[in-house]
Amino acid sequence: MRTLLLDRRKVVGVPVQCGEYVAKNEEVRAIFPTVAELEDLMAVPYRGKRRDTDVIRLWSPGGRHWDVPFQGFTVARDAMDQGLADQAVEAGAELRTLTNCFAVRGHEVVTDHGTFEAKVIVGADGPNSRVAKSVGLPKPVTGPAMSCLVGGDFSSATDLFFGDFAPGGYAWIIPKDGCANVGLGTWQHFDGNLAHLFSAFLRKHGWSEHHGTGGHVPVLGPVERTVAPPVILAGDSAGQVMATNGGGINVAMIAGRIAGHAAADHVERGVPLEAYETKWRSAVGEPLARGARIKRLADRFFGNDWMLDVAMRMLGTRRMARAIRCQSLWLPARAVLPPNDGEPAASA
Ligand SMILES: Cc1cc2nc3c(=O)[nH]c(=O)nc-3n(C[C@H](O)[C@H](O)[C@H](O)COP(=O)(O)OP(=O)(O)OC[C@H]3O[C@@H](n4cnc5c(N)ncnc54)[C@H](O)[C@@H]3O)c2cc1C
Repeated sequence: MRTLLLDRRKVVGVPVQCGEYVAKNEEVRAIFPTVAELEDLMAVPYRGKRRDTDVIRLWSPGGRHWDVPFQGFTVARDAMDQGLADQAVEAGAELRTLTNCFAVRGHEVVTDHGTFEAKVIVGADGPNSRVAKSVGLPKPVTGPAMSCLVGGDFSSATDLFFGDFAPGGYAWIIPKDGCANVGLGTWQHFDGNLAHLFSAFLRKHGWSEHHGTGGHVPVLGPVERTVAPPVILAGDSAGQVMATNGGGINVAMIAGRIAGHAAADHVERGVPLEAYETKWRSAVGEPLARGARIKRLADRFFGNDWMLDVAMRMLGTRRMARAIRCQSLWLPARAVLPPNDGEPAASA
């Protein structure tokens, strides 16, 4: 089976449009309990680890903070993406950069460097997927976000700041080695100037203007349909992002692997591509849907700093920990202890 990877970028992973935060496997297991073989899947991100971060510190608009133990690490996202592309090439795939996909017509992928015919087309082309649009698959609801690197020494905490300076979203400071990834994202209703908000946040924290890069983040979970043979969608194109924290790297890798298997099963054994929809939803669908419901609830408090402050106080550390993990906010009487959290967590 011949596999062709097309990317419009000149260099894979460049520019970086990411906070560069990856959840560790133990957290991914707590969020998506049925997903297995994470060590193998996440080998490249782990190899590119820059720094551990063991706490997510959530700041309310009023300046109060809660520490949620959460095991993550930071990466150089460009190097990580290049490592993943190298892995695919070593396994026999052919990579063609500077190749912009314009449309999909039947089994043909039309690009600025010719038309390619394929038995299966995996649209992993981000939240504004041309592949999805061509075949009439829905687009995820997104909000804009941007980030940059600032120099300095930072603690191992990942700081998330909530308030009207980041309407419907949050600003972040994610520690790396000798620097931090600082960014800001908002919700789907935002129609202002994100760069202005971002500059204001940088100035407030004592940093001068930096050139930020950004993009769009799916903010309300997956789209309703991700298969239109011969096309299947994986990653942001399918909205496979945890709505309560904006993290898409881990989920895109899980769904990407399922997409690869579904494509191979289809080509080699004639298994219908629709099997992909069932498989990825049974692996990550329920927590992602729950995360989207929690985000919709949270959206009622965003837009009013006073209400947001009260809501965060009422939730407290335990429920915020569960929200971050896309777990139900309401605890059953008998709870299970999540890893490194000392707090009870909801079963799904
Ligand atoms: C500012 C920002 C910060 C983020 N921070 C984090 C974070 O810290 N942790 C986390 O887990 N998630 C984060 N995310 C989300 C995360 O980046 C995505 O969920 C993840 O990258 C999904 O991967 P993907 O492969 O689906 O999409 P992408 O990483 O967007 O990759 C899409 C690829 O398709 C290519 N492409 C697009 N259109 C075409 C076309 N027409 N033709 C050819 N190629 C095309 C692009 O060049 C790109 O290489 C962040 C997102 C943003 C915007």
